[in-house]
Amino acid sequence: MGKASRDKRDIYYRKAKEEGWRARSAFKLLQIDEEFNIFEGVKRVVDLCAAPGSWSQVLSRKLYLPAKLLPESQDSDLPLIVAIDLQPMAPIEGVIQVQGDITNARTAETVIRHFDGGKADLVVCDGAPDVTGLHDMDEFVQSQLILAALTIVTHILKVGGKFIAKIFRGKDTSLLYCQLKLFFTEVTFAKPKSSRNSSIEAFVVCENYSPPEGFDEKDLHRLLEKIGSPSGADDLDCSSGWLEGPNKVYIPFLACGDLTGYDSDRSYPLPKSADGSYQSLDPVQPPIAPPYKRALELKKASSHGVREQDEFKNSMQSSIASA
Ligand code: SAM
Repeated sequence: MGKASRDKRDIYYRKAKEEGWRARSAFKLLQIDEEFNIFEGVKRVVDLCAAPGSWSQVLSRKLYLPAKLLPESQDSDLPLIVAIDLQPMAPIEGVIQVQGDITNARTAETVIRHFDGGKADLVVCDGAPDVTGLHDMDEFVQSQLILAALTIVTHILKVGGKFIAKIFRGKDTSLLYCQLKLFFTEVTFAKPKSSRNSSIEAFVVCENYSPPEGFDEKDLHRLLEKIGSPSGADDLDCSSGWLEGPNKVYIPFLACGDLTGYDSDRSYPLPKSADGSYQSLDPVQPPIAPPYKRALELKKASSHGVREQDEFKNSMQSSIASA
């Protein structure tokens, strides 16, 4: 698909380039904010799985840059934004970057060090593994990423804080809802207008972090496993009870963003300049070192010889194996 036809097919992709966002995902966070007002009173934020950085840009533009412009602002008053990803990211003003794996305990320790003993008001996570197309597998890997994010949340989110994470809707959504309800008084699933209806992606918006009394972060996984079994759920207060039959959990689900605004599943005509042509813009900032970069380089070179073709095949196989 050419750039111009992608601009026509995906209005948010085009708008992202026009407004200087590195990815169309920026609109998802903005639309979640329109509905839930997630930035109110926020001074410390963690952006998990942040590359190429459009959510970090939103955090910078909504929190850091306005605070910096205040006449009496001092460095110590400025919001602290820490962004983490496996991939490196081009710099963004006011955003501290950490390259690391959110499933690794050391990553949480690095973030905690940046906060110097303080806690975060908000944690966002737009993490996604490379999608395999096998729905159950993709949903499972995505849920593992959310649990890794929740582990970090239990270490660094302040009581009363908020957590926003991408999920893949599927048969385990009720279980996830129930698990999150252990830690937050309000849990809502949201579908921003910029997220395609055809995609199983949605976002969970968790408000008012209130871990169970006496909760020890080391017990998180044991606690979550317990809720994953019907007998375990009986003695936990999962507010709505077990997940099947008459006690089935009904999950609050909200469409958000201006509902009269752009529809991400529609094609829109391209604006023409005076000479009747349309000029497609380049992406604002593509990922610096995406995992597929080496494979693409090898593909280009593959016409030059069989050795490169073998190397390309091996590289593709190992990317698939590690996905
Ligand atoms: N929110 C980003 C933005 O607005 O630009 C887009 C995030 S992109 C959809 C998903 C990101 O998750 C990728 O950059 C990927 O490297 C990252 N990711 C996946 N697994 C991860 C992990 N275990 N630790 C850290 N980052 C991870």
